[in-house]
Amino acid sequence: MHYIEVKNVSQIYSVGNEPVNALTNISFAIEKGEFIAVTGPSGCGKSTLLHMIGGLSKPSSGQILNCGVSLYEKRNSEISLFRRREVGIVYQFYNLVPELTARENLLLPALMDGKSVDQREVKKILTILGMENKANFYPGQLSGGQQQKIAIGRALINHPKLLLADEPTGNLDSAKRDELLQLLRYMNEQEEMTILVVTHDSVVAQKANRVLHMMDGKIVNDEVIV
Ligand code: ADP
Ligand code: ADP
Repeated sequence: MHYIEVKNVSQIYSVGNEPVNALTNISFAIEKGEFIAVTGPSGCGKSTLLHMIGGLSKPSSGQILNCGVSLYEKRNSEISLFRRREVGIVYQFYNLVPELTARENLLLPALMDGKSVDQREVKKILTILGMENKANFYPGQLSGGQQQKIAIGRALINHPKLLLADEPTGNLDSAKRDELLQLLRYMNEQEEMTILVVTHDSVVAQKANRVLHMMDGKIVNDEVIV
């Protein structure tokens, strides 16, 4: 059985009265421990696909299966549990809470789950991100790249089984990007985290084990890198 299976999935949005085919009959499977990069031009459906796999958006038709069980046929409360227990998402826009400090933003998902977080873990994540001395800053006091790092840390702190990231390196310089890639590789290899990264950056795509190339709402190339 596959970890995640995307089965005959289409997504049609309507904009005004015009239908927009964001995804057209997509099928592929994700196995546990894969590190997948999704590439393709802007507007080809990458973010739509990511949100669907993450339990955030129900397809117009087709199914997303998690270990054989159809995600969107579950109750909303169960879909929400799937998101919270299984998935970490790094957003293209940081979605940090402006009234909370960097540290508090990091801890937010765990607090929402009623989990306690080991302070050493918080320190470790802040150190990896190079943000130790910014822990008490508010998002408005951080640069875009620094906010992005906190958003990444927030997704990692719960040790999700599935990490979904939408252009996570967009605001990082190449040294910081390489650090982040090392962190993702570490999470993938040492913690068996399954990772799916939407990216325009070929350096990021080169670190993946598999590259899905999308065009006009379809997967046009599925390349496994050995
Ligand atoms: P990508 O991430 O590859 O840039 P998206 O998945 O964001 O692509 O978008 C795919 C297509 O669907 C685009 O044409 C986009 O304009 C459209 N789209 C995405 N989200 C919505 C929405 N909420 N409502 C209407 N159209 C949308
Ligand atoms: P509940 O409905 O039980 O409160 P949430 O809405 O908090 O569950 O969803 C759980 C996770 O999904 C949270 O991390 C939340 O930030 C994220 N999430 C929920 N809705 C969206 C959305 N539309 N776009 C991006 N992330 C979302």
